[in-house]
Amino acid sequence: MKSVLSQYRACRLCPRLCSADRTAGRRGICGESAELRVAAVLAHFGEEPPISGERGSGTVFFSGCSLRCCFCQNIQISQEHLGKTISAEHLVESLQQLAETSGVHNINFVTPDHFAAHLPLIVAQLRTKKIDIPMVYNTSGYSLVPVLQELEPFIDIYLPDFKYSDSDLANKLSHAPDYPDKALNAVAEMVRQKGFLDSFTSGHVVAGQGTLVRHLVLPGFISNSIDALSMLYTEFGRDLPISLMSQFHPVGKTEIESLQRRLYRQEFQQSVQHAQELGFQHLFVQDTELDEEGDDAPFVPDFRRKSPFRGNQGEDQLK
Ligand code: SF4
Repeated sequence: MKSVLSQYRACRLCPRLCSADRTAGRRGICGESAELRVAAVLAHFGEEPPISGERGSGTVFFSGCSLRCCFCQNIQISQEHLGKTISAEHLVESLQQLAETSGVHNINFVTPDHFAAHLPLIVAQLRTKKIDIPMVYNTSGYSLVPVLQELEPFIDIYLPDFKYSDSDLANKLSHAPDYPDKALNAVAEMVRQKGFLDSFTSGHVVAGQGTLVRHLVLPGFISNSIDALSMLYTEFGRDLPISLMSQFHPVGKTEIESLQRRLYRQEFQQSVQHAQELGFQHLFVQDTELDEEGDDAPFVPDFRRKSPFRGNQGEDQLK
């Protein structure tokens, strides 16, 4: 196992390749030093059924993000850096307690790329404490293959986004024109390591291993979604599990007009129809009330609350 701190010294953990010395308190585009920072640890019920199951997914929300999309739905933690500094040992204790008291189906690391150097240590300590549930790497998809290769022995399930097929759009919304290439390579590596999500073939409702790709349909950018689905189909075929999400709410800092509104039902249906026409066999389609007006945003968390998600679905366990 590589030393944790050495990987933060001239940090090249994600495709931004900043080379910032995070051990000296410097910050790259992700905005985080080498100190682990976490916004919440809780049982989360808002993931797809094979991930949340009945008892929830034991989720860690890390502070910061290397992609920094202008429409980010978790902007409080990804760009405003809400969160607490925590040692790896303290995080392991919180996760152990969550696993033992709530019986969560897995441990789910959300936006972990910029803290990827800590994960082998955290997972190894959890295993020592007999926490043998699957470990989930839940990412924007803007990941580097060599970093994923280091994680292979420690991660069981990959949940990558595939946000953009269009490099110009990736540049406009995330300042990452290389996103389509980098994300496609990352998904290929994830599939090579773990295959497709096994819940479809194992006979179990809850997944134990594999890859599930997510795509959030953005208002006004349907051709990006159509092309993203076509790219995934061409690369991985119809058995790749896909989750199409409609939950977008305008929360980010952007002047782009279509991102000031919810997604139209017709836009989402167009994306779903294309996925069905391509023949994807394992398709999750989010059931959101798209025609409802008002500022209620059930999928947008508020990390200032003890229960960041609506309906008191799991309280933050960090003490
Ligand atoms: S993880 Fe952060 S500091 Fe490291 S390369 Fe990515 S954005 Fe830069």
